[in-house]
This record gives sequence, C-alpha cells and structure tokens, in this order.
Amino acid sequence: MMPGSGTGKATTRPDGSSTRGILAINAGSSSIKFTRFDAATLVPGLSGRIERIGAPGTSLTLAIGAAPGEVMPALTRTDHAGAAAHLIEWLRARDPACVLAAVGHRVVHGGPDYRATTLLTPAVVESLRPLTPMDPEHLPHEIALIELWMARFPGVPQWACFDTAFHHDLPPLARLLAIPRRYAAMGVRRYGFHGLSYEFLMEELGRSGGTRAAGGRVILAHLGNGASLAAVRDGKPVDTSMAFTPAAGIPMGTRSGDLDPGLAWYLARLEGMDAAKFNRMVNSESGLLGVSGTSADMRDLLEREPVDPRAAEAVGMFCLAVRKCIGAFAAALGGLDTLVFSGGIGANSAVVRERACAELGFLGIEIDALQNRVGADTISGPGARVSVRVIETDEELVIARAVRQALDGGSAEPTQSTSCREKP
Ligand code: ADP
Repeated sequence: MMPGSGTGKATTRPDGSSTRGILAINAGSSSIKFTRFDAATLVPGLSGRIERIGAPGTSLTLAIGAAPGEVMPALTRTDHAGAAAHLIEWLRARDPACVLAAVGHRVVHGGPDYRATTLLTPAVVESLRPLTPMDPEHLPHEIALIELWMARFPGVPQWACFDTAFHHDLPPLARLLAIPRRYAAMGVRRYGFHGLSYEFLMEELGRSGGTRAAGGRVILAHLGNGASLAAVRDGKPVDTSMAFTPAAGIPMGTRSGDLDPGLAWYLARLEGMDAAKFNRMVNSESGLLGVSGTSADMRDLLEREPVDPRAAEAVGMFCLAVRKCIGAFAAALGGLDTLVFSGGIGANSAVVRERACAELGFLGIEIDALQNRVGADTISGPGARVSVRVIETDEELVIARAVRQALDGGSAEPTQSTSCREKP
C-alpha cells in the first residue's frame, strides 16, 4: 500500500485530524528536510531530514510523528535522487492512509521573474532550467527532485515556494551590483535568499511583538550552515547580505561570503585556477571549514576553540562578520528597534549571539547574559533600546501555509485525482 492508494478519499482520524496531507520539502545542497502537515489544520505530523547527501554516512533523522527509535532503513543510494526515492518509498509504507492534497517545494532561486508561490507545471519546470547557472549548488538538485515527485505523484498539485521572493522588491539601490549596466538587464542583481525563513520570522515577530515591532526597523539574522542577514523597515525588505548567489555576504559553514573580486584573477595566474575550481572553493571549501581547516560545524568549532587557535579564529571571524553586518544594516535603516537571531547557530548558540552583539552598545544593543544563556525569547536587557529576540525558524510551515493559501485560492485545483497513486 502507498499513501492515498485505494479509494484515494480523505477521511477524518479519531483525533480529528484529516488523512489529507500537505508535504513540505526543503532540499538543500546536501540535505532534504520534509514535514507532512495536516491539510486542514496545518498541524505538523511526520517530519525528518536526510543529511550528508552525496557524502559518506548519509543519514536520516526523524522528528515529530515517528515512533521513538524508529529509523529509516539504510540508504542504498546516497545521491539526491536516490535519497528522495528512498524517502518516497518510506513515506508510502509509513502512512498508507495518507492522501496528499499537495506538495510544496522550497526553490532557492527564482531568478528575475518568480515572486510568488507557483503551481509547478512542466512549462514552469522548463523555465527554471535556464536559471541553474545562477545557483548551480541548489537548483539542479531541486529541479531533479521536483521532476521525481511530479512523476511519482502525477495527480497531486505541486507548488514552488521561492527563497528569493521575499526580497523581490528590494529598493533599486540595494538591488544594484556595481558592474556594467548591461548585466542588470540580463538579470544580474542582488536577489537575496532565506526568504521563507525571513517570512516566518516577520510573522512571528508580528505575533509576539505586535505590529509596532514588525513595523519598525528590524534586522533578521538567519545563522545556519548557510547564513545571511536582512534589514526590514515598515515590514518591507531594505537590504540583505546575500546577493546574486547564496555564496555572498558573511562567511558560512563552507561558503566564503564576500571576497575581494581581484582574488579570482590572482588565483588564476598563481595556480591556474579556473572558474569551476573557484566556484567549488568559495562554495564548498571556504568559510568556517576553510579557516579552521577542520570543520564547517559551529558546535565542533566552539568545542575545539580552547585548544585550537584556528577553530577560535574561524568562530571569531564569523562573529565579527555578523557584528559588522548588523552595524551596516542599522546604518541603512537609520537606527534599529529589533534584532532577531535564528537558524541553527542563531537560535542555539548563546556564545555566538553574545560575541556578535559585543561592542554594539552604541546602537542600543545590550544583551542580558542570563536571559541569553537560558535561551529566553527576548535576550535584551530590561532598559535596552533595541529588543533582541531569538526565534526558531520553520521554513516548512511557511511552505505549507503558502500551499494551503494557493489551494484555498482555487487556482490549484488539479485536473487529476489528488490521491498519491503512482504512475504505472
Ligand atoms: P541549515 O542551514 O543546513 O538548515 P542549520 O540552520 O540547522 O543549518 O544550522 C546548522 C549549524 O547550527 C551548524 O553549524 C551547527 O553546528 C549549528 N548549531 C546547532 N546547534 C548549535 C548549538 N547548540 N551551538 C552552536 N551551534 C549550533
């Protein structure tokens, strides 16, 4: 049996939840996260992540909805398509009564045109293909996954949710890259990423801090393996640290962030480094990994820093870059009311938050050491001018909400059955 096979009709379970699900898929360069939400209530059910795709030790971690100790059988193929195929088989076996109402895919790069949740048709998928040179690290995998899900679940509407959409209307001066004009006409601009996370953080800020907080001068710091900051005023994006690709901005786990543009030519002459090698270096061999020489993982580096000066420098470099970006964005915003930390590092590391905010008292940023250490929602001191908050992000929920809204809007009515029946 597979989810939705048999009659393909949704029923209500004894606990009131529906057997209809919205599956949110969040594929990164080396991971696939997924959550199945109840289509009616958007309560999360089964969720998990496959990590280290393409590397030794590909693993699957299950979270909510899985029986304690439940594990997915070992993956026989560890590439993206193999991992996804494995996931589909596992979901089919795990929840045979589930009828998928829709699937939502995170798509990192939407290029110049995509600015809203979009129903994935073969024509839309074709239109994404020419964008792959803009984001060779993510888009080829994402397109392959979308095609796989569309082929396996042809009756289920699938939607793309773009990480670039949040920043689509950046002010013209923030969009411009200072290279010859003709490239702007070819779509070379600051796009900005982590938009699904920023959308969630702004909604949460509005919910917990009211319209005054969300409508003020806000800096959002999404600090994970990929890391970026965004400046928002009156609810509208004003600037962001990532640019044409997610390799720009502050240093990350394996990405360099901003570099001297002269380095490309210097390394070409010094080592005969070509464009492909340069791209690999700045995306996969740099950042925390490149500087520490040992790990891209902040937890590892914090553990090692007392005995490893390179690990300490990598952490120090990261915190300084975050601090400088906060200062720059406060200048772009003309002051600051709220600073939000999120992402694996931002939501969990009191040490990084404290170091990133050190010396920012002149901006009105003061951290309450105890609140920070215990991981309170608000970590600024009682009299501080800037409210500093910690919010755990939920990109999958943003995807599910967008898909639900699209389904409710009526434009997503599929022409075929919504059951998860596989194509013969
Ligand atoms: P991704 O961008 O892949 O979604 P995450 O947002 O999960 O990544 O962030 C992963 C990063 O968060 C890793 O560097 C990890 O070490 C770091 N991290 C997670 N928990 C902690 C913690 N308690 N202290 C410091 N860093 C942490």
